[in-house]
Amino acid sequence: MESDVKLVPNPAIADLPLYNAGMNIEFARKVSGRSQIAALASNENPYGCSPKVRAMFASDLFDPSRYPDPGCTALREAISARTNVALENIVVGNGSEEIVAAISRAYLVTGSRALTVTPSFGLHEIDPIAAGATVTKIPMTQDMEFDIAALEVALAAKPAVFFLPTPSNPVGCTLGMLQLERLAAATSPETLVVIDEAFFDYQNEVDGTRFLARSGLNCVVLRTFSKAYGLAGLRVGYGLCSNA
Ligand SMILES: *Cc1c(COP(=O)(O)O)cnc(C)c1O
Repeated sequence: MESDVKLVPNPAIADLPLYNAGMNIEFARKVSGRSQIAALASNENPYGCSPKVRAMFASDLFDPSRYPDPGCTALREAISARTNVALENIVVGNGSEEIVAAISRAYLVTGSRALTVTPSFGLHEIDPIAAGATVTKIPMTQDMEFDIAALEVALAAKPAVFFLPTPSNPVGCTLGMLQLERLAAATSPETLVVIDEAFFDYQNEVDGTRFLARSGLNCVVLRTFSKAYGLAGLRVGYGLCSNA
């Protein structure tokens, strides 16, 4: 029997924009009736993961009956050695998208203001809205570059969180080091800057950890094993934070 009582969802999540995660390859095979599919929609690594990862899964080292170390200590130590970021300033998530959601829950409440660019990665808008925030989206320029002047003006209004993806998904441009410096100079300590470097490994112009080193600013640099490392299915991403 159907109940007459209507469940009332959290109003912040009632009208969320849809997230387009790209079509799953098995689903694409099913709806197209074709087996040969070039799946490009989610920027997965067409070469797959390292054979060393496959070998690990076939070995006794992989034991899915056990809970993992909740502190991800071994992985954080390896990331620390590679990035020179202190162990206590590194956080690991179920994909970097979990860290986008966690930052939104932790730093945004009803009425907070978040800032990002458009077009951009859907969750940089969806997670802040779900937390009750309003999101200002600065359009990319006609040349499909970051509009640094407009972002400087928007940063002067001291948003609580600024999601900055570089290299940009889906536009493809990369912020230059001088542009990053300009944005750092325009940022107040009241703003948490989240530099989403999901495609960090595909360029060598800019390294967001340099922003972390700016004293007094609050910043998280997000990276992931999903793209260059070909491990999207494992859901492992991490954040490099300006303080613990
Ligand atoms: C793919 C992607 C992510 C999500 O990565 P996961 O670690 O798989 O959650 C985050 N940000 C951008 C810009 C991406 O393209």
